[in-house]
Amino acid sequence: MCGIIGCVGRDDTVETLLNGLSNLEYRGYDSAGLAIGGGNLEVTKKQGELENLRAELDNNESSVSGTVGIGHTRWSTHGPPSDRNSHPHTDSDNRVSVVHNGIIENYQSIRDELTTEGITFTSDTDSEVVPHLIAGYLDDGLNPQAAFEKAVERIEGSYALAVIIEGTDAIFAVRNDSPLVVGAGDSAYFLGSDVPAFLDYTRDVVYLDNGEFAILRPDGWTISNQEGDNVTKNPKTVEWTAEQTGKSGYSHFMLKEINEQPTSLRQCISGRVDELKDAVVVEELDHLSHVDRVQFVACGTSYHAALYGAELLRDRDINSKAYLASEYATAPAPVTKATLVVGVTQSGETADTLSALREAQNRGAQTLALTNVVGSTAARECDHVLYIRAGPEIGVAATKTFSSQLVTLNLLVEHLARGRGRSTTNYELITALRNLPNQVQHVLDESNAQEVVDEYVGDNAFFFIGRGLNFPVALEGALKFKEITYEHAEGFAAGELKHGPLALVTANTPIFAVVTGDDERAQKTIGNIKEVEARDAPVVLITDGETEAERYADHVLEIPDSHQRVSPMLANVQLQLVAYHMADRFGRDIDKPRNLAKSVTVE
Ligand code: GLU
Repeated sequence: MCGIIGCVGRDDTVETLLNGLSNLEYRGYDSAGLAIGGGNLEVTKKQGELENLRAELDNNESSVSGTVGIGHTRWSTHGPPSDRNSHPHTDSDNRVSVVHNGIIENYQSIRDELTTEGITFTSDTDSEVVPHLIAGYLDDGLNPQAAFEKAVERIEGSYALAVIIEGTDAIFAVRNDSPLVVGAGDSAYFLGSDVPAFLDYTRDVVYLDNGEFAILRPDGWTISNQEGDNVTKNPKTVEWTAEQTGKSGYSHFMLKEINEQPTSLRQCISGRVDELKDAVVVEELDHLSHVDRVQFVACGTSYHAALYGAELLRDRDINSKAYLASEYATAPAPVTKATLVVGVTQSGETADTLSALREAQNRGAQTLALTNVVGSTAARECDHVLYIRAGPEIGVAATKTFSSQLVTLNLLVEHLARGRGRSTTNYELITALRNLPNQVQHVLDESNAQEVVDEYVGDNAFFFIGRGLNFPVALEGALKFKEITYEHAEGFAAGELKHGPLALVTANTPIFAVVTGDDERAQKTIGNIKEVEARDAPVVLITDGETEAERYADHVLEIPDSHQRVSPMLANVQLQLVAYHMADRFGRDIDKPRNLAKSVTVE
């Protein structure tokens, strides 16, 4: 999820790697490290800022040098940020050094197996199994390349891996669902999780596809596929400026992150649903004790996710309620030992949410942090933690973290429902969650949101409506819109319009209506659409086309057909694009909207 740099063939390897890591800093990270090879391997790594790593290298008595090396900035997923959890990781004899982005899903069973064989692990990470596996195959007599490939056969999940091995001057690399790119310089070769890693040295790049291996040696690089066949790829010259490059060519981090959702959602689900058993498998929740009531505490976008989660639980007959975290301490919220209070917070540092969670602990509840940041305060203070695995988010307006929160809430709800003896998760839901990343990709590829918003530039106010699970999505659509366009936007439960807000509705107040499925709720929302139409308001419909609602719309933003719990997530992607393109039209400071902060650490 975070940064990788590798280089072969330069004399100033350490400086090149440090420079690459500093060019990857914008992505956010919690620790950094590097390994230099050629002869013996030398690993230096440190929690915190890159400066800490530099200082450690300066202190290092043995001057680190070599013409091959790998470096890493870590965004923790397994094990909190610490020196020992930082990458690179090595085997017990320091023969193999590995940096890894992503998540190795089956690490626990491999770790158990290797532990039984007598291997001692020195970190909490999923990544550390890789150097031990490779070392084992070297001991079996395999050459470095074969040992690496054999280790990769053993692992499942998402990974970009770069490996150096004692006595060789090569970098071995592979990718699966986590980006990796080769930089082809004149006399030196580079590897990066992203182009900025080596942009100061070459603009000629070769993108690896899933399942492809790369080997970088002093005399060149080769790429091969899973079958071991060489793949011929010609380098492309990247013309982007350094600034554009950091955003992978997108004009804003927010747009980049909206487009990253297929990957982040895959990462969120990976290893957590079992299609054969029609079940969700969330190890993190194994130690929850009996739960008969759930209270969510959250703010902003996370509160909208909480509203969605509470509705899912009620649908599964589990008592639940979402509270605004800032209201919780003064709310008469009934709590017993069987109450689970879930703090939904992207950063894990939201002061209002932390304070509500502490209040819940005082009242005797079990607490769970549902967060993106490993080792954050919420993760440390709560009894349990469930990570959403969205990867670092730079744009202040939450996008990919919201969609990962919604998916993670589905996992939590199914886990609790099973614990309460409710019927098992149905096959349709598991399949829909599995298909979600591809369907999100479809929405991203086909969306006409940009053309649609052009029609409404300059209008007075923008309203978003939906019922049931589409209600929190309408609230989130409006919040996103106001956060980055600075225009007035409100979200309503569709049925509430006529109880007041209808007084504001005119020909200059476009209504964004989310209608999915064809149940009674959808039919009733169509009734509400007719009400606004009768007041001349333009209607933009976000729909899967299950009803006749299109007849009443001025524009339609289509989403693919899906499970009724999953459709709101697809509608949300359209609304993210609506907000983004309108803000872009106004030339707003989209990644850093005025007056807002990414992590709100005051109450
Ligand atoms: N899962 C690995 C860890 O927690 C890699 C994290 C990353 O992508 O930076 O160390």
